[in-house]
Amino acid sequence: MLSVKNLTYTVRYKTLIQNISLEVKDGEFVGIIGPNGSGKSTLLKNIYKILKPDSGEVFLDGKSLLQMSNRQMAQKIAVVSQENNTNFDFTVSEVVQMGRYPKKKLMESANEEDQAIVRESLKMVDMEEFFDRSFLSLSGGEKQRVLIARALAQQTDMVILDEPTNHLDIGSQMKTLQLLKKSGKTVLTALHDLTFASKFCDRVYVLYQGKVYAHGNPEEVIKKEMIKKLYDVNAELFERNGKLYIDYLE
Ligand code: ADP
Ligand code: MG
Repeated sequence: MLSVKNLTYTVRYKTLIQNISLEVKDGEFVGIIGPNGSGKSTLLKNIYKILKPDSGEVFLDGKSLLQMSNRQMAQKIAVVSQENNTNFDFTVSEVVQMGRYPKKKLMESANEEDQAIVRESLKMVDMEEFFDRSFLSLSGGEKQRVLIARALAQQTDMVILDEPTNHLDIGSQMKTLQLLKKSGKTVLTALHDLTFASKFCDRVYVLYQGKVYAHGNPEEVIKKEMIKKLYDVNAELFERNGKLYIDYLE
């Protein structure tokens, strides 16, 4: 279980996230939604230790993540961040292979099992034919799928993702989220699409101006009033067979 307690992060006197608490139980699929600039990425970076919070704590199964080394954390949590701007020209298989490092000793090279896991992970995201391609030559959506394969190759129980589907077409968004859902992993992901959030998330947290505006089941939280206030869009919501449909009006 991931437990975030009262996280606050300030940069140059500007509070980007304020007193945020959240929980992700084992096996849960939890979404973070909210308009651009609401603090989703900042919150996730404070959780996966790219940024250091001013105050607050993050626990994984009762152990402080802040006290863990990056390697220890990577053995437990795979991260798919928004920044995938590597300038080094790795092949696709080399990028996915990096997901195996946290489990290996220093300088230990990939064995047959690692190679099989890399191939299997690429297959899961429909990218196996890109095995030898240069990562830099891929489109945004292809890169995103390779980074998801890298996270799968890490074989952790938990995955944290920052808008993992923002470069993907609708079919690939659907496949990627279904894959994560079916994996049975504990998932914490920022998502910008409210329909996908309601379809896949067990619970969502809505961020607004660096604070938790609301949280709960998608149907409790994704409401006309919230969409109007946070996104300044008039929406109609329909429910059919327990599924939420959103129509954005002028
Ligand atoms: P989201 O992921 O929800 O779009 P972010 O967490 O990326 O939002 O950003 C939240 C807010 O913090 C934005 O207004 C952004 O411009 C601001 N911000 C992020 N990093 C910094 C920084 N280093 N200095 C000043 N402002 C920042
Ligand atoms: Mg972001």
